[in-house]
Amino acid sequence: MSMRYRNLIDGRWEDADGEAPNLNPSDLDDVVGTAPTSDRATVDRAVSAAVAAAPGWADSTPEQRATVLDTASAEVRARRAELGTLLAREEGKPIGEATAEVARAANLLQFFAGEALRTGGEIVPSVRPGMTVEITREPVGVVGIITPWNFPIAIPTWKIAPALAWGNAVVFKPAENTPAMAHELVDILSRAGLPAGVLNLVYGGGSVVGAALTDSDAVDAVSFTGSLPVGRSVVSSAAASGMRVQAEMGGKNPMIVLDDASLELAVEVCANGAYFSTGQRCTASSRLIVQRGIHDRFVEALTARMRGMRVGHALHEDTVVGPVVDERQLEQDRRYLSIAADEGATVIGGELVERETRGHFLAPALVVGTTNGMTVNREEVFGPVASVIEVDDYDEALLVANDTEFGLSAGICTASLAVAKHFARYSQAGMVMVNAPTAGVDYHVPFGGSKGSSYGPKEQGSYAREFYSSVKTAYINPGPR
Ligand code: NAD
Repeated sequence: MSMRYRNLIDGRWEDADGEAPNLNPSDLDDVVGTAPTSDRATVDRAVSAAVAAAPGWADSTPEQRATVLDTASAEVRARRAELGTLLAREEGKPIGEATAEVARAANLLQFFAGEALRTGGEIVPSVRPGMTVEITREPVGVVGIITPWNFPIAIPTWKIAPALAWGNAVVFKPAENTPAMAHELVDILSRAGLPAGVLNLVYGGGSVVGAALTDSDAVDAVSFTGSLPVGRSVVSSAAASGMRVQAEMGGKNPMIVLDDASLELAVEVCANGAYFSTGQRCTASSRLIVQRGIHDRFVEALTARMRGMRVGHALHEDTVVGPVVDERQLEQDRRYLSIAADEGATVIGGELVERETRGHFLAPALVVGTTNGMTVNREEVFGPVASVIEVDDYDEALLVANDTEFGLSAGICTASLAVAKHFARYSQAGMVMVNAPTAGVDYHVPFGGSKGSSYGPKEQGSYAREFYSSVKTAYINPGPR
């Protein structure tokens, strides 16, 4: 069944002029839906609706906000099998992972429902006699939210839920190739009791709809997740417009495997980190930095594990690696593999795979014999591709791990607590994993990177308030009795 998705502006679902089809990457003959290609004027109307609705929502009680988020959480959780199937169909994530992502969205909504109720402040004695100082948090105003396709319900949720919990109005612009999940989330939230105009949805291209949000005079903040080049342009455009901006961007995440690591654990950690979700995770392990003593055994065992991963239709229960999301991404993955071979590396796997349906199926690839200077180790591939860099010892591994413009997630497999603690301290990444994949994070703690991967405050957990609220300091002199 194919759906026609519409924008939501000021509480009304609206058609727009242009329409773009959204194809199932596991089966290109299956049109999941069509979504509007909106223009700038549509964005301006959505922003005006948010501006009008913002003061009312800012004055809502914590309980009202918590109830909306709780109600939405319950519906998402109850419908997780159905929504997981839709997510797998539109994005290509294998059904098990897709359903887990939907459950995560429910957990995020539940967590931020609690955060709405935990809104607090501080009262501090003033240095001036008789005076008290109240430190409180207020909504920022109208928040523009721009998201990528690879976590089509989790990422929008971890931005929209804290925005609403902290009393902001939202204009949401989802990625072009995942309109279905955006529709479902916005539909569920708006039916959960949000007043009209508090949450608006505008579909369309990044250079039109996204850009209209980042250079709008009426938008107070923009939260973006996506690629490094787009993120950089979003940050400069939003900053030039004087708005608060947060950007989570790409990664080139290292996973160190030391000689003392459990081989079995290291192979599982790397297989998961590199190839689950078809490697289409910002936190995917893409550089496997392996000490010489374990290198050959590791490559042999990981190759066998990788070769055993079933590539196929996202809705088939035995699929481990689903399709690549679209043709452009498939070409990008293959281009990096061919550049790696041209630069002298050996590519294992990475073949096109044929299945009963027409889909973007690519076998996972392990690129061995690489150096950290090779293109495949400098730039984000964003596919089921990992490369191996052989090193002499931990000190060299740490240098190689940190030798990148990115700094999202970094991991180490080792039996040494001392080395693990040293790595956690000196790894230049926002998130560090010890004997665990670089990808796969909890929903109640801060998420985000350092260096080129991130700009602005962290997302998720109670730290999300740093972006979605403004601190006010009020000096109260009660005056004479
Ligand atoms: P992308 O940068 O191409 O697009 C992201 C979003 O930005 C889309 O909605 C797009 O339409 C919009 N956009 C494009 N041009 C714009 C412009 N000029 N102004 C405003 N918005 C614009 O990224 P993608 O291909 O959708 O997603 C993959 C990328 O996302 C990868 O680089 C991945 O690492 C990154 N990512 C990062 C995180 C993180 O938290 N760090 C999480 C998931 C994905």
